Amino acid sequence: MAEPSTGERREFQAEVNRILDIVVNSLYSKREIFLRELISNASDACDKLRYEAQLDASLVKDDPDLAIAIAPDARKRTLTIVDNGIGMSHDELVENLGTIAGSGTAKFAAELAEAEKDLAKKEKSGVGLIGQFGVGFYAAFMVADEVAVTSRRAGSDEAWRWTSDGRGGYSIEKAPDDAPRGTAIELRLKKDAAEFSETARVETVVKTYSDHVGLPVWLAGDGGRRQVNEAAALWTRPKSEIAPDQYIEFYRHAGHAFDEPWLTLHNRAEGVIAYTSLLFVPTAAPFDLFDPARRHGVKLYVRKVFITDECEGLVPPWLRFLKGAVDSEDLPLNVSREVLQNNPVVARISKALVKRVLNELKKKAGKDPAAYAAFWETFGQVLKEGIYEDGERRGDILKLARFRSTGAEGWVGLDDYVGRMKEGQKAIYMLTGDKAEAMRTSPMLEAFGAKGVEVLLLDDPVDEFWTMSVDAYGETPFVGVNRGDIDLSGIGGGEAADDGADDEPGGDAAPLIAMIKLALEGQVKNVRASRRLTDSACCLVVEEGGMNARLRKMLRAAGQTHDESERILEINPKHALIRSLGDRAKGDGASRDIEAMARLLLDQALILEGELPKDPAGFAKRMSDAMAKAVAA
Ligand code: ADP
Ligand code: MG
Repeated sequence: MAEPSTGERREFQAEVNRILDIVVNSLYSKREIFLRELISNASDACDKLRYEAQLDASLVKDDPDLAIAIAPDARKRTLTIVDNGIGMSHDELVENLGTIAGSGTAKFAAELAEAEKDLAKKEKSGVGLIGQFGVGFYAAFMVADEVAVTSRRAGSDEAWRWTSDGRGGYSIEKAPDDAPRGTAIELRLKKDAAEFSETARVETVVKTYSDHVGLPVWLAGDGGRRQVNEAAALWTRPKSEIAPDQYIEFYRHAGHAFDEPWLTLHNRAEGVIAYTSLLFVPTAAPFDLFDPARRHGVKLYVRKVFITDECEGLVPPWLRFLKGAVDSEDLPLNVSREVLQNNPVVARISKALVKRVLNELKKKAGKDPAAYAAFWETFGQVLKEGIYEDGERRGDILKLARFRSTGAEGWVGLDDYVGRMKEGQKAIYMLTGDKAEAMRTSPMLEAFGAKGVEVLLLDDPVDEFWTMSVDAYGETPFVGVNRGDIDLSGIGGGEAADDGADDEPGGDAAPLIAMIKLALEGQVKNVRASRRLTDSACCLVVEEGGMNARLRKMLRAAGQTHDESERILEINPKHALIRSLGDRAKGDGASRDIEAMARLLLDQALILEGELPKDPAGFAKRMSDAMAKAVAA
């Protein structure tokens, strides 16, 4: 490979150069992972060929036994990794090895870009990130001065050779026509990486990282070549024979992951539909968890043959954090990816998988609440999408859901909440808003606080959606504390806020309310005395079924406008200000004062909702006037 290249010279994409900069100069101590990356790519390439060969057998006819061969050469200080998989055409070499297309590497690049923006992350950048994300193919440059990739795409009669020293660009030229199908990657090792040209060292690394690879890995040594792995897909082996480390390595290999699985589920189903599943819940969220284009990471196999990692029907979007493999015995091998979309076998497997995953989550939540809380913080937002997307599973998901609450520190489940409900309490009360911590001081909670009634604080945007469509948890209805008229008088215990006046909360304030209504005509739907306030003077609420402030804000941000005037201003007749205003309202010529005060009350209520006063200049002026009067008095 040392001869000077006469091929076409091309530059790497800028992101690739940034990654290579770090890789080439890194002193990353676990350099041996380059071999995992290359074996993983070789194994992917064989999987892809096996799938294509189901539709066109001629692709593998001349060389049907798919395998990976690794040849260290201590004398030449080289290491070569060969596979007879799908191979790459000229354009694929350019696309795959000169730009960032690969999933694993894209993740690294995205994090790197983030790290450059964010000082706090900067410490983690570079070498730290390699361990966390891996850099796929480019990891080869951690140990090699030069990498040569010779490849022939299955079915093509052209072979190409790609070479690079990892510094700025690469060359690509025609390779001899007798190059075999698949890909050979030849590494000219750096001086300080000579260990990877020794058979014994390479064998240890291969065993660590590739034992689960489902095809033979051959290693060349003094006594000829021998197979160094078991070559049985991990999920086909009995659970009792699989060590925890093997599961972890398989997870990293199959899921292009670099963390450890939070939960591992390995099962064989033998019923009407037979399949094996090996599923993982990751510990860390992938960077694109909320990217609408993101799919789940569960690969579909049919009798050990890889079919696709894009089978949408297999895992619902609200479980898209799952990774792993499902191997069916009932699907035909030559099933096309299109046919899979609406396949009844896939649908049944999916249903069973969902049930199993939810069950295991439930178990984990019961057994280890702290670990479950960590899971919930990472993936709870995604799981909650299932509450409105999957009517059938709604109850199960609600059981698994955790919320912030006024009743306890940390995460609270609905069963805990229901268990703590007060005598006479008939509903699960909740408040939605931007931040649970800020919501704790909301005036909406005053009467609940006084009665010791717990309120769930829902601060996730997705909460706005499911709370619109889900009425109850089992038999217990959900009630938004900023909705409709709240009457807590039937609930016993706590400091009663309902001291008689509650029956007719308007009471004395009736003339004042009438004047405020007049002053705010067109700006609010109604004005009434409040049963939910104990300390604050006023607040804004919505009718049962109306749109609350947060949803309104979200829709406004999304460019949808809505009628602002459908809210109700509630005033607290027991508040000193309202009482004085009430007295004032009974006197003569009060209407001008009351009008200014009414507007101030409304603006105050808006501010409490996290909104701006309607007319900030007018607000400031009215406020100054009121303050001037107070100072003068
Ligand atoms: P990833 O494996 O996450 O996609 P990599 O950087 O490891 O990212 O590889 C980039 C791409 O190069 C792969 O997606 C694949 O298309 C191609 N590739 C790498 N190695 C091989 C190989 N041995 N045979 C065929 N294609 C390969
Ligand atoms: Mg890879």
